[in-house]
Amino acid sequence: MSRPRILIVGAGFAGYRTARTLSRLTRNRAEITLLNPTDYFLYLPLLPQVAAGILEPRRVAVPLAGTLRHVRLVLGEADGVDLDARTVHYTDPEGQGGTLGYDRLVLAVGSVNKLLPVPGVAENAHGFRGLPEALYLRDHVTRQVELAAAADEPKSCASRCTFVVVGAGYTGTELAAQGKLFTDALVRRQPLRAGMRPRWLLLDIAPRVLPEMDERLSRTADRVLRRRGVDVRMGVSVKEATHDGVLLTDGEFVDSRTLVWCVGVRPDPLVSSLGRPLERGRLLVDPYLQVPGHPDVFACGDAAAVPDLAKPGQYTPMTAQHAWRHGKVAAVNVAASLGIGSRRPYRHRDLGFVVDLGGVQAAANPLGIPLSGPLAGAVTRGYHLAAMPANRIRVAADWLLETVLPRQDVQLGLVRSWNVPLDSASPELARVPGAPAQSGTEKSGTEEPR
Ligand SMILES: Cc1cc2nc3c(=O)[nH]c(=O)nc-3n(C[C@H](O)[C@H](O)[C@H](O)COP(=O)(O)OP(=O)(O)OC[C@H]3O[C@@H](n4cnc5c(N)ncnc54)[C@H](O)[C@@H]3O)c2cc1C
Repeated sequence: MSRPRILIVGAGFAGYRTARTLSRLTRNRAEITLLNPTDYFLYLPLLPQVAAGILEPRRVAVPLAGTLRHVRLVLGEADGVDLDARTVHYTDPEGQGGTLGYDRLVLAVGSVNKLLPVPGVAENAHGFRGLPEALYLRDHVTRQVELAAAADEPKSCASRCTFVVVGAGYTGTELAAQGKLFTDALVRRQPLRAGMRPRWLLLDIAPRVLPEMDERLSRTADRVLRRRGVDVRMGVSVKEATHDGVLLTDGEFVDSRTLVWCVGVRPDPLVSSLGRPLERGRLLVDPYLQVPGHPDVFACGDAAAVPDLAKPGQYTPMTAQHAWRHGKVAAVNVAASLGIGSRRPYRHRDLGFVVDLGGVQAAANPLGIPLSGPLAGAVTRGYHLAAMPANRIRVAADWLLETVLPRQDVQLGLVRSWNVPLDSASPELARVPGAPAQSGTEKSGTEEPR
């Protein structure tokens, strides 16, 4: 008898955990295929450290082939799902199409940058959702400081050394915190004109940083950012973005060559193409992570609206913690649907949150206990090391090196502005000349590099 075919689409927090758990549960009694555009699982929470030159990019890329046993990896991006024929169509990295059949499907395609209809943002801002964007930002920031150090005019120097981050959730907050330390280190070795310092602005329309988290975490992050010299502007956002700067909603125009868009994410557009009910763009599933009316289809992670049984009427937020735990329950329930074990609903207990603010600083509330300062920093780094499925020694080695050696402040210039458009359905891939247009990408990639 042939083995049932399980197809998992997406190898992020949810899909990776589903594959790993299913491999253990089914013990070769099923054929598990994992479809993903890259050959790695990206550990996103450490991405700000890649942009800030602390971690080398491969540290946060967990290899799929080396860490998932009995799972067949297919490199490609799903672009069509036929629920009746039980097939998924995909395009591989060289543009060739293919079709995969399944008996059970798990959709775990995550999310992409959220756009808002603000003039000039799509053309002049960059998101922060994938490795190419982190590499771009690291090089771009280094280049701006180098050009500023050589600039004759004070205005040009100031504009190059002003960095605007929009969105004070964990991504924007960590990025601004790490970014300020990074540029301070850069100017120590390449001093700017007398009296000039790199300037980082963190904007959000919300009244406080980390608006969706415990207020004690917000207060800690706010204090660390301000002490470090980050210009924290709450209740303010962007009215218009241009090549030369940003017009704020309070009327001020900030001269800058850098606008990082961290206003949040939206579910990957693949799930809306299914024609099944959505909840704010996320594919609606039941507490067993099954798509209603399709017992052979499961969804989890950012792309799925999973009922929060601890808060009736609400859905679990888009976080790595939830996606990781969804993945385990999805695997248990897929296995149960094949007669292996019994199914269970998704329930969770809040384990707290960690926000790395760079240096030895962090804000954390493990199990609800609020921590700040070096203790929070140690807990945060320990948490990430424990949570990463691989690469731990390499990450720890980079952290150790950071304490004894200066960062390597060179820009390789391999990822340019047009490689990483903000409006992209595939932030995990850098756009390259001649590649087929990505679905969901509206912009042509021809603007001048910033
Ligand atoms: C910079 C940053 C920092 C963050 N920090 C934290 C944090 O500290 N704590 C926290 O809890 N959360 C954090 N998050 C949020 C967290 O990373 C997400 O909630 C989590 O990654 C969601 O997991 P997922 O598996 O749904 O999606 P992802 O991890 O994004 O994985 C989706 C996978 O699907 C693949 N994919 C996408 N489209 C397709 C397709 N069409 N076909 C095939 N494969 C596809 C992608 O390449 C990717 O591998 C952070 C997010 C960012 C961007």
